[in-house]
Amino acid sequence: MVLDPATLTVAFILLSCVLGTLLIFSWTLNRQLSALAWWGTAFCLIAVGIGWANLGKGPPGYPVLLLANALGILSYGAIYVGCRVFNKRPGILLHGGAGVAVWIGAFPFIYDSQGYRLILASLLTGAYAALSAWELARHAAQALASQRVAVFLLSSLAVFNLLRGLLGISLTSVPWIDTFARRWSSEMALFLVVFGPTLAFMFLSMAKERLKLDYMRAALVDDLTGIPNRRAFLQAASKLLDRLNGRPASCLLFDLDNFKAINDRHGHATGDRILSIFGGILTEKLPKGSFGRLGGEEFAAILPMGSRDAASVAEAIRDAFSAAGKADLGGNEDVTVSIGCATIPRASTEDLLRRADQALYCAKESGRNMVVAA
Ligand code: GH3
Ligand code: MG
Ligand code: MG
Repeated sequence: MVLDPATLTVAFILLSCVLGTLLIFSWTLNRQLSALAWWGTAFCLIAVGIGWANLGKGPPGYPVLLLANALGILSYGAIYVGCRVFNKRPGILLHGGAGVAVWIGAFPFIYDSQGYRLILASLLTGAYAALSAWELARHAAQALASQRVAVFLLSSLAVFNLLRGLLGISLTSVPWIDTFARRWSSEMALFLVVFGPTLAFMFLSMAKERLKLDYMRAALVDDLTGIPNRRAFLQAASKLLDRLNGRPASCLLFDLDNFKAINDRHGHATGDRILSIFGGILTEKLPKGSFGRLGGEEFAAILPMGSRDAASVAEAIRDAFSAAGKADLGGNEDVTVSIGCATIPRASTEDLLRRADQALYCAKESGRNMVVAA
């Protein structure tokens, strides 16, 4: 079978346009994911650049070589910017435009030599692909499965482009090296026809994974304190009890003391800050995922330990909160928490919470700012 370069080139151009449009369309459905707009733009730019350079009649002249390659380099810049935007890191103009600026600055000096043009364009695009892979590998906000595949794809693209550039430097007479380094060949077009959709699919998957994590976070994390909410706590608690399989579990129930008075005296914003401070103390003192905000000024934790150990953890939290709360209000007012503690083997979360609530009631009745075990 003979692969016709012109046909493959047209196929790649059309494919890139479609992929670019689909990525931009996905962005219009969720404007928060602006990385998709950058990646979509990149696919459209490469389509225009390659079409312009390869589909004209006769060999391309000075302006076409300058601008079509500039679009190609800009498209790699847009991929890199998209990766930075995806990671919520700054840098658009400088990071996306540096490559094209180098190209335009150097072009008058290398216009005469196809070899030097190829070397520079390949090195610039290879560098952008490598930077994009690095960005996704090193600065990822979350560990997404599709992100790892994208890193692999972008690294391969970097190696491919850098090899073309570096082999171009030697411009040897070895025929396959010349073919690989110089030509916009059938092989290269075929590679891109397969590579383009794979990369676009991974970008879309990354966006989908990110959205899913964001929605999960919104459903399971308390907005104000950043700790797990009631739903997340109840889920984690029943999982822990299943795992413990009858070994003792303790439930701590926390209720901040006279919190209404704190709100009334210092304002709601101060109350919010005190709640966040308490969330921070739970995060510091308890294992991840073992606690949550049940609502208002009530929090709970479930721990795989007996009542004595649980009570001493509770005491440490009570101490830390009274110090941190007092410091926050300027040192002249007490901010305290009452804690009910229940330990029952083979109990359900509801039973544990009910018993801890009775203990908490005793703590409030007995003067607040104390730990009471059921
Ligand atoms: P006690 O020691 O008996 O627990 O007294 P309390 O004042 O803490 O209890 P009460 O149930 O009377 O009041 C709870 C207060 O917590 C009332 C409510 O305004 C406040 N509160 C609930 N959620 C929030 C919140 O998200 N932010 C702020 N600032 N206040 C909140
Ligand atoms: Mg309360
Ligand atoms: Mg209270």
